[in-house]
Amino acid sequence: SLKETEENGFKGHSMLAPFTAGWQSTDLHPLVIERSEGSYVYDINEKKYIDALAGLWCTALGGNEPRLIKAATEQLNKLPFYHSFWNRTTKPSLDLANEILSMFTAREMGKVFFTNSGSEANDSQVKLVWYYNNALGRPNKKKFIARSKSYHGSTLIAASLSGLPALHQKFDLPAPFVLHTDCPHYWRFRLSDETEEEFSTRLANNLENLILKEGPDTIAAFIAEPVMGAGGVILPPKTYFEKIQAVLKKYDILLIADEVITAFGRLGTMFGCDMYNIKPDLVSIAKALSSAYLPIGAILVSPEITDVIYSQSNKLGSFAHGFTYSGHPVSCAVAIETLKIYKERNIVEHVNKIAPRFQEGIKAFSGSPIVGEIRGQGLILGTEFVDNKSPNDPFPAEWGVGAIFGAECEKRGMLIRVAGDSIMLSPPLIMTPGEVEEIISKFGHALKATEERISE
Ligand code: PLP
Repeated sequence: SLKETEENGFKGHSMLAPFTAGWQSTDLHPLVIERSEGSYVYDINEKKYIDALAGLWCTALGGNEPRLIKAATEQLNKLPFYHSFWNRTTKPSLDLANEILSMFTAREMGKVFFTNSGSEANDSQVKLVWYYNNALGRPNKKKFIARSKSYHGSTLIAASLSGLPALHQKFDLPAPFVLHTDCPHYWRFRLSDETEEEFSTRLANNLENLILKEGPDTIAAFIAEPVMGAGGVILPPKTYFEKIQAVLKKYDILLIADEVITAFGRLGTMFGCDMYNIKPDLVSIAKALSSAYLPIGAILVSPEITDVIYSQSNKLGSFAHGFTYSGHPVSCAVAIETLKIYKERNIVEHVNKIAPRFQEGIKAFSGSPIVGEIRGQGLILGTEFVDNKSPNDPFPAEWGVGAIFGAECEKRGMLIRVAGDSIMLSPPLIMTPGEVEEIISKFGHALKATEERISE
């Protein structure tokens, strides 16, 4: 079996480093990225990488988009900051809210609340839903149901909602009001002979049973990513959202769509809700909202909810929640320009033009003896490495097969996401057909090298 050595990448920088987000230290040997150009980034040694994860699923327009730099500079010169408290705000914040509301067409939305990140957006959702239920005189309707393997962020509440054990272990999480139901991964969790539709029915029944066991009057909301991102790019099985939404409706439970990854074209529709006919009460967005050039997130709130919160009969007082940087004018100015570019360049159309080759090119490697499943939609894709092509035969964790693949990609100048033996791609939406071919080719060579190394 494999040992940790410099040579096989284990002692390299980012691949097997501990969860280093936010921590900086030279003794962790980080890969230091210095500049970007379109779909590429360069490290401090001028090594060039195709950024097949778009930073962290976010730089949809790639690096160096001059219009975003101009939008930021102009806004910095005009008004670098003013807040959005007490009925005061700025023009960019208002304009961006209106633009987001006009772009989201899966159903009518009433208002937008700005945050700085996806985690803050999901934390804000919880407070908003609690406030709403309190305003309706049902303070016991407080619990949230999320799904195993979901990722909703890292703050205490967003990490609680997330269904990844590493985010809970040793943190005394999840918070007691959060429950988790099934991960909708058909390949991994189906029963033998179960069709996708039957699998969806079983999961919807399990959800209903959980609601009945807890008491429908105690369940406030259900939160779901249209396609699970960090959990491994897990697509909803056929009829899943249709059946889940019917259960939620039956018990008067709100639906929150976490579109932090899927919003703005990633799946080949402007929002993930459009792809799967999801009619949410609340939506979280971030990442591609500004193509990640500046931090910004937001929640979209249905008119039914805002009507209750803003009604004269609501005796709770103001919704006392907000961040200094909510609706930061410079972030908003960049986001407005980002959305303008998506429209002008028909980003959804472009994704639909290049995605078929991206999906088909990578899925052509499904026959590899170490690949269990390759799955994806639009410009997002996940691959799982297993033995014997079976979800029940994982490779020994100490082999670090996913990490080896990641290191082989990196060696060849391609950056991806590795989580155990699951690897993920989510490249910039502006990719050219040539860049798609480059990703496919690098993927293939890295896969071959990984196969050879684990058979040694
Ligand atoms: N929700 C989803 C679906 C995400 O993928 C992420 C981040 O990857 C978040 C929420 C958290 O966003 P942030 O890292 O901006 O706090």
